[in-house]
Amino acid sequence: MKIGKNAITVLERRYLIKDENGEVVETVDELFDRVAGAIAGADSLYNTDADRQALAEEFRELMTSLEFLPNSPTLMNAGRPLGQLSACFVLPVEDSMEAIFEAIKQAALIHKSGGGTGFSFSRLRASGSTVKTTGGVASGPVSFMRVFNMATEAVKQGGTRRGANMGILRVDHPDILAFIDCKKNNADITNFNISVGITEEFMEAAIAGRDYALYDPRTRQEVGRLNAKEVFDRIVDGAWRNGEPGIIFLDRLNRDNVVPGQGQIESTNPCGEQPLLPYESCNLGSINLVTVLRRMDDGSFVIDYDKLGRIVKLAVHFLDNVIDVNKYPLEIIDKTTKATRKIGLGVMGWADMLLRMGIPYNSEAAVELAGRVMGFITETGRQESRELARARGSFPLFAESIYADGEPLRNATVTTIAPTGTLSILAGCSSGVEPVFAFAYIRNVMDGTEMIEVNPVLKEVLTERGLYSDELMKKVIEAGSLQHIDEIPDDIKRVFVCSHDISPLYHVKMQAAFQQHTDNAVSKTVNFTHDATREDVAEVYLQAYRLGCKGVTIYRDGSRDSQVLNIGHVK
Ligand code: UDP
Repeated sequence: MKIGKNAITVLERRYLIKDENGEVVETVDELFDRVAGAIAGADSLYNTDADRQALAEEFRELMTSLEFLPNSPTLMNAGRPLGQLSACFVLPVEDSMEAIFEAIKQAALIHKSGGGTGFSFSRLRASGSTVKTTGGVASGPVSFMRVFNMATEAVKQGGTRRGANMGILRVDHPDILAFIDCKKNNADITNFNISVGITEEFMEAAIAGRDYALYDPRTRQEVGRLNAKEVFDRIVDGAWRNGEPGIIFLDRLNRDNVVPGQGQIESTNPCGEQPLLPYESCNLGSINLVTVLRRMDDGSFVIDYDKLGRIVKLAVHFLDNVIDVNKYPLEIIDKTTKATRKIGLGVMGWADMLLRMGIPYNSEAAVELAGRVMGFITETGRQESRELARARGSFPLFAESIYADGEPLRNATVTTIAPTGTLSILAGCSSGVEPVFAFAYIRNVMDGTEMIEVNPVLKEVLTERGLYSDELMKKVIEAGSLQHIDEIPDDIKRVFVCSHDISPLYHVKMQAAFQQHTDNAVSKTVNFTHDATREDVAEVYLQAYRLGCKGVTIYRDGSRDSQVLNIGHVK
């Protein structure tokens, strides 16, 4: 198996089965056997003659070749008693004390099983409005978010991962200003990412400098007005300060709502890539694009679309099976999920693929290729979903879906681009569709020593040209980029661009190119250098809006005390 050293450390720490003394009692091979066997099992629901053994072997090969990996909960829990396999959930929060605390309990059960939850708090009455039964005064969405946050803090996810939440508030909720500022202090509400739910109407009002109305969530009566440009600037200011809040475009999410009769999509999962109806869950999986490159005789790399097509089809079959094998934390989630059978197949290793092909991330050629690759994946994924529908039936709500006039589909959605935070470490490739953050950095190893980590593609290219040395890598670490290092030839500099060498506009263009061919949404952070201005951030929000993105997350370097990735140094 091709799995690397860092991957083994991650697997041992969090994925392999341990006994009651915390000793690892499973090998990496056994993990993939366990997952493959459990997921192949679903085929016997549809075909008693199904050759489960042969399918399990195909699934195992798909994962151990690192061509495709399912999201972390599937790797952790498949074939084990917990059996909860999804990364993403959305829960409704209704406007009553009972319902609010019920949602907290439901979220706790999901977090325990390794899933992340998204909530819209837009139905909660505004702070200061009256409480009928007591005559008291309501404390509003933000104060309840703090309770959700504390509950999350207390539930460490089954000893594996800490709960992650998305909190959304519509821009026309009376508490919107308090919401925009609720994470101003970096130490507040730390288990949430927050996003303002924006409408196109609001964006048009902000562009024109007009007022817009706020509504009482219970009566839908207008209760106030704000200047849209001022609210927009306040959102931008927060994002500029420390990356919060992000924005999501609610009407775009709902334009792609496959079953509008079931209600509105009001939230996404924690990292923003998966819009869901209340009580839906979704399981994700990602294809490692580096594995579909073929080296030609002249040393150049091309995409092997036949191979990519085979991987896509097998991965869709795998993810559809996950829906049946999954043990859902609540009965209603089981029912809602199986009514639409949404899956989210995406990609990782995109930046590494471009490096190998010699295409700069910040080029029109890369943006164009993004559309071609993702278009192919979504189209091929749908074909497989249609084939599955022929054999197993369409998703139960198909007849009332926006696809009802076409050929039956097994899954209401097929593609999603996840961050692949852990999966990309396991696969040893760049994460999701993000550019490489740093080509070389120092890793603190557990025994206190430090080691230099270098992007494998850069190392290979420099070694082939006889240029590689530890000294040179130290210079790269110091500078944070290759762009101003004299010893590195210009043709390498042009291709090996890292996040901060890429203008925010190209970050957005890349996100938009993938979004155009993705059923769900795209997880992407637009990185800014520390000296970026609020106007720069505002410009990116407008670009994302114009280019058809479903949301935007930005991050300005150094704007939080502790950030996951630092140029030069990671823990
Ligand atoms: N997620 C979570 N907790 C975490 C990391 C991720 O709940 O610590 C959920 C969340 O919904 C996120 C999704 O998993 O949007 C996918 O994240 P990622 O692709 O990074 O997960 P991986 O499968 O690589 O662990």
